[in-house]
Amino acid sequence: MTQSSQFTRRHVVTGAATLAGAGLAVSQAASAPAPLPAKWDQEADIVIAGGGVAGCMAAIEAAAAGAKVLLLQATPDLGGNSRISSAWIRSANTRWHKNLGIQDTTEAYAKDIVDYGGGTRDEKKAKVIAEVSGRFVDRLMDYGVKFSDEKDTANGGPTLRVPKVEGRGAAVMAAVGAQVRKTQNITVKTDSKILDVYLDGDKVAGVSADLDGKKVAIKAKAVVLATGGFGRNQKLVEKYTNQWKETFRIMDVEDKGDGLLLASALGAGVANLQVAMVTPLMEYSKRIFYSSLTLLAGAIFVNEQGKRFVNELIIYTTTNTEMLKQKASYQIVCEGLHPMVEEMIKNGVTTRADSIEELAQKLGVPVENIKPEIEEHNRITAMSGKRVDRLGRTVFGKPLKAPFYFLRMHPVMIETVGGITIDDKAQVVTLGGKPVAKGFYAAGAVAFGEHFGRGYRSGDAYVYSGVFGMVAGQESGRYAKA
Ligand SMILES: Cc1cc2nc3c(=O)[nH]c(=O)nc-3n(C[C@H](O)[C@H](O)[C@H](O)COP(=O)(O)OP(=O)(O)OC[C@H]3O[C@@H](n4cnc5c(N)ncnc54)[C@H](O)[C@@H]3O)c2cc1C
Repeated sequence: MTQSSQFTRRHVVTGAATLAGAGLAVSQAASAPAPLPAKWDQEADIVIAGGGVAGCMAAIEAAAAGAKVLLLQATPDLGGNSRISSAWIRSANTRWHKNLGIQDTTEAYAKDIVDYGGGTRDEKKAKVIAEVSGRFVDRLMDYGVKFSDEKDTANGGPTLRVPKVEGRGAAVMAAVGAQVRKTQNITVKTDSKILDVYLDGDKVAGVSADLDGKKVAIKAKAVVLATGGFGRNQKLVEKYTNQWKETFRIMDVEDKGDGLLLASALGAGVANLQVAMVTPLMEYSKRIFYSSLTLLAGAIFVNEQGKRFVNELIIYTTTNTEMLKQKASYQIVCEGLHPMVEEMIKNGVTTRADSIEELAQKLGVPVENIKPEIEEHNRITAMSGKRVDRLGRTVFGKPLKAPFYFLRMHPVMIETVGGITIDDKAQVVTLGGKPVAKGFYAAGAVAFGEHFGRGYRSGDAYVYSGVFGMVAGQESGRYAKA
């Protein structure tokens, strides 16, 4: 973990002491471990907190290693952000790649992960993501998840590396949830939350949890935290990502930072709490989240003057920052651009215009502003070879043709990106890379740690969560059965 210890120090914005008291949804705010309970009410080999893709994949793997698993999920259903997600999954060497004849290697993918981090990422973790990503996606296929044949570089990645799930995260979590429920040795408790992790010396001894409204002590050899981010904890948002404190949120209701607070209180390293994923992809009136597929297919954003104001496909933070400077932002799409346009029309969030003149009139913008924007965009779209427009856009799909449709867009926060630090075995570690306790693991958004200081590209977060979920399950299973 030498890499991590260097970069986490550089990227850390806070430690346990400053987190304590910031709207704790867990019972422990101090940095000393909670005293062991007088008696245990229940026992499991492994307690996993959080039933998104990270927690569910961990549960399946740990059970496969022969461990008895108790999976706690705060809401009535498994799913979390993993269900709301678009579920683009950056990966290599999957059956999807092979079926579509895409040439790629795990080495090239690992290099891309490291390069994108600009010197802030752990090379060992990058290797794990690249190597396990193929097994993760293939496993989803085994569970019945279907991927579209759509090939693109997913907002600027270097290779055709991002399979997209048909039916998005809802389809993934329906299949993964069904797998969890039919796997022997996994007990799922919904409406139940982890509250504390108990340590006995240098080992995990168990947890306290709110189970069906009752606080219980559960003896366990290992714990996996997979509780997601903290975007629903307004105190933490104001403290760390204050510029987005009034931004709309589309995320799990329990994204309250429980795992982050709990682990940091026990000494886990914490990094990048100031980073949040805010995308320009929410329709304003009904607050529906769309992916960037229509933009990749050729859609543009214009402002209240009918002028384009940003490269629509640059990193989200830049698009949002520019969007917030406009009085209003509209996405212009047209029939036949992408199947998602039909979904937008069906959702009742679009206005139709049969000509550019009608588009200008219905948007209330000067036609002499919007007409050249669309004509110029179509002119560059029609060109062959490497193309760059005046705003730096390099990805073009189809031309925009009547009938047009427009919908008002707004930035939305979908996830916080900082979190506790884990090593390549998914062990919760200090900023120096030392395991906090034997049997203490984390995966997914709660453990984004140092990895996403630059935010994530579409597809980066789902794979990180699924892969480290699998690793945490295997490692905790092995540890608990040793
Ligand atoms: C709208 C949207 C679109 C996205 N699109 C993409 C994409 O296309 N590609 C990509 O790579 N990433 C995408 N992401 C991000 C990606 O989906 C997430 O990073 C990933 O799913 C996180 O998985 P997870 O299992 O760590 O967390 P979650 O799926 O959020 O699961 C955490 C679970 O823990 C539960 N929980 C919280 N506190 C407790 C507690 N104390 N005890 C027990 N349970 C608790 C929560 O209720 C939740 O169910 C998107 C996210 C959103 C919101």
